Parts: sequence; structure tokens; C-alpha cells
Amino acid sequence: MIKNNSKYNVIIIGSGFSGITAAEMLADHNLNILLLDENIHFGGQLLRKIPEELGEYPSYKPEKIKRVGFDFIDKVKNEKITLMNKTILLGVYENNEILVEYNREKTFTLKYDMLLFATGSREKFLPFKGWTLPGVYSTGMLQVLIKSSGILPVRRMLMAGSGLFLFAAAYEYLKNGGELLGLMEQSPFLNKIKFFPQLFHQFSKFAEGGRYLSKIYFSGVPVKYRRHIIEARGEKSLEEVVVGKLDSDGELIAGSEKTYQTEALAVGYGFVPNIEAPQLAGCELEYSGEKGGWIVRVNDSLETSVDGILAAGEITGIGGAQKSLNEGKIAAYTILEKLGIGDREKGASPLKKLKRERKHHMNFVKCFNSLYRIKPKTIIGIPDDTVICRCENVDMKTIKNAVQTGMGCFDPNSLKIATRCSMGQCQGRICSPVIYDILQILCQKSAEEIGMYSVRPPLKPVSIKALKNPHNS
Ligand SMILES: Cc1cc2nc3c(=O)[nH]c(=O)nc-3n(C[C@H](O)[C@H](O)[C@H](O)COP(=O)(O)OP(=O)(O)OC[C@H]3O[C@@H](n4cnc5c(N)ncnc54)[C@H](O)[C@@H]3O)c2cc1C
Repeated sequence: MIKNNSKYNVIIIGSGFSGITAAEMLADHNLNILLLDENIHFGGQLLRKIPEELGEYPSYKPEKIKRVGFDFIDKVKNEKITLMNKTILLGVYENNEILVEYNREKTFTLKYDMLLFATGSREKFLPFKGWTLPGVYSTGMLQVLIKSSGILPVRRMLMAGSGLFLFAAAYEYLKNGGELLGLMEQSPFLNKIKFFPQLFHQFSKFAEGGRYLSKIYFSGVPVKYRRHIIEARGEKSLEEVVVGKLDSDGELIAGSEKTYQTEALAVGYGFVPNIEAPQLAGCELEYSGEKGGWIVRVNDSLETSVDGILAAGEITGIGGAQKSLNEGKIAAYTILEKLGIGDREKGASPLKKLKRERKHHMNFVKCFNSLYRIKPKTIIGIPDDTVICRCENVDMKTIKNAVQTGMGCFDPNSLKIATRCSMGQCQGRICSPVIYDILQILCQKSAEEIGMYSVRPPLKPVSIKALKNPHNS
């Protein structure tokens, strides 16, 4: 167990693809490294598998990229690296200090020379009437249940949303014996043609997409494009879902409604970067819709605007595992260089290649995220009685009133004070992306003009036990 005030050459926050890659590359250099993650298992969102004690997962045959990741995890466990799972980063302070909570039991202050944020992404949601009903899942949750616990929560369901991950979740669900009533993709089919110039550099992603599509089509699942969820209905839990068709501006076409009888619905609209920790550390952020929203501003060596702090993976742009792997490596090279370790000349050529590859990844990121962006008319078309902030039960009408009726709520923080929106347990992690979108549209201002929610420690809920029990070894 670590001691309070321990000092590390490098602390890595997040053990997804980027964090684990950087950790593995930094091992073997006689550095004092700490890799921490709030999850029980290392590997982040993608590298999940059924715990050994639950037995072999019958359909589990990870593809190549995942095998690389699982290999890194195994190697890291054998390296001289301090690993802390169940450890949440709560605060980042001056003098290179961070505060973490371990296992809901203790808090520690730790010090670093270099800090790497690899905090990944979370799911993005588009609220609709009835999205809080039991029986409505997120596609990410569905995948976590299948991949981490071997649980198929329901035999038959409808899936809706947008993005490649929607198809990945459908593939996983079908592969494990689920039956899909339909797959409702919000974006149009034809704009996928814009992907083709990327084919040359991103062949593996096309192969991945092809695998998902063939499973879905050969399973006889009806796939509909430009479809939008109007309402999920049910008395105590989900009973039916109303879906409508969107026109090319993202507006609902009157009379296009179709009702599906189903007890379960999974929805997902892609991912948004987890930038709260770098934001707290004072790292400059930038807004780029084509990179996935608010991201951490980095140079091509992945240094942030704060000396000694780097960022890698989804937080510099939503781009998937290959990009996170590439950035984990670049971050490791930069850290070694900054610490004056390693053979600079020897590293120059692979680093140049990695930086070149990163440019291709970033081109893909921009193309990919633009294809699946939700149109403003769809967002502003959310009915007034739809709950937007589910923790505090704040609906669309309350938000519109706060902006439009002279309360002067033209930014997220004043909206929060006036309506309690994003003030609940999740602290806006679920609703903030759509609130930023709504405010931009209602106020006719850019994301930069609207700004973001301010952050302060603790970044995530902390247990009373840990607060009472600080600084114990
Ligand atoms: C629910 C979900 C499912 C996904 N499934 C797929 C998939 O099937 N296929 C695919 O290609 N991509 C998937 N992705 C995208 C995937 O995240 C990327 O492909 C890539 O692997 C990201 O790597 P990363 O290192 O940037 O971040 P991640 O893999 O997201 O890892 C970030 C890690 O940081 C940790 N972390 C964050 N904040 C803190 C904190 N304050 N304290 C401590 N730890 C923290 C998290 O627990 C997480 O383990 C999924 C994303 C999500 C959100």
C-alpha cells in the first residue's frame, strides 16, 4: 500500500488504452511510476473481460487491437510500476500534488514530477420523453453488462442512437444471443460516403465496421437511418417506443411516427471526453465539435498548457483505440525526453512516425465526429416536458424559461444556480453536453462564449469514511 505524500516521477490517471500503453513504455527506465484507475480492473472502457472467477466467456475472442491491450495489461502487472485500482482522482493542486480516494476508505495526497491525464470518454445522451423509465438502457451499460459480467439483461430489445459504437453494441448483443427488433440510426446513410477518403489510412476501422454490419444484416435486423426516438412509454417500466423520421435539417417529419412494442431499449449517441480533471488542473481546453466537443488543448508532443502535465487518448479528441494507443506512445516518449531519460536520437525516428500517424488519426477523428453530429433542430426540438437533468429532474421548459424570460441565464453556471440543473450526484456528467448544445442554440452564441461548468474538488463523490480517514498508510 502506498504512503501519504509519496512522490512519483510519473503519475498516470486512467488505465485505458492510452494510459496502459504509456505505462508499459515507461517501465524499464528505472522510474517511479504510479498508474491509477477508479475501476476495479485495468484497461478502461474497451479492454473489459469477464473476471476469471466467473469462468470462461464462451463467445469471447478478442480482436487484434484488444489482444495488444490485454498484453499490455499483463505486462504492466509484472513491471515495477505501482498500480492502484479503485482509486479516484479527486483534486489537482499547485506544487504538483493530487488528492485521491482509495477503495472508498482512505484519501491520499501524492506528488509527481510529470502527470499524464488519460481519463478517456463517457457516453453522450440525447434526452427524449420517457428516457428515465426502467427498461431504457444506455448502449455502454448494455456492453458493460455483457463484457464485464457475462449478463444479457434482456432477450429482445430495440436499439437507437448514432455512431459506430451503436453498431458495436448491436454486434455484441446479437453475438451473445440477443434479438434486435430494429436498429435506429439518427444520421443519414448517404453521408457515410464521406468516410471513403479515410479508407487508406484507417483500414482496420473499416474492417471493424464491416464485421458489425454483416452480423447485423445477416441476423435480419431492420436498420433504419434518420430515425429519432420521440418517446418511450410505459406505466411502471418501458412498454413501447415511438420513433419518427428526420428530414435533412434534423427536424421531425410529421406523420412519420411508428410505435414499437418492446420492454427494452438501448440508446447511445457516441462519446464525450472526460476533461474535468485537466480542467481542474488549469489545462487550456478548446471546443471542437468535429473532435467530440470540449477537449484538452495539446501540442504535437501531447503537452498541455500546464508545465509537466500531458494528455492522451479520448480527451484530445474522440477517435477510438488506435488513436489512444498511438497517443499513449507519444506521451511516453515526451515524458522520457522531459525527464532527460533514454536515447533521444534513437527515439527520434519512431516518434516522428508516431506523430505522422497521429495526423491520420486526427483526420479520421474530424471526419467521424462530423458525420454523427446531432443537428441543432433535433436538439431544440426536444419537447418542453422532457427531463434534461435526471438527477435534479429539470425539464426543457425550465431551461428555456431560465434563458428566455429575463432570468439572464446565458451560461451553464448561472443556469445551474437558477434551476439546479447539473447540481446532482452526477455533477452534470450526463446532461452537461446537451445543456451546452441547448444554450448555444437558444443564446445563438458559440461554445466558447457560452463556456463550461466550473469544476472544483472533489471531482467525484467521495465517501464519508474516506474523508474521516485521510492520510493513512
Ligand atoms: C461505455 C464505453 C464503451 C466503449 N466501448 C468501445 C468499444 O466497444 N469499442 C471501441 O473501439 N471503443 C469503445 N469505447 C471507446 C474507447 O473508450 C476508446 O476506443 C479507447 O479505448 C479509449 O482509450 P482511453 O485510454 O482514451 O480511455 P478509456 O478507455 O476511456 O480509459 C479511461 C480510464 O480513465 C479512468 N478515469 C477517468 N476519470 C478518472 C478519475 N477521476 N480517477 C480515476 N480514474 C479515472 C476511467 O475509469 C477509465 O478506466 C467505449 C467508450 C465508452 C465510454
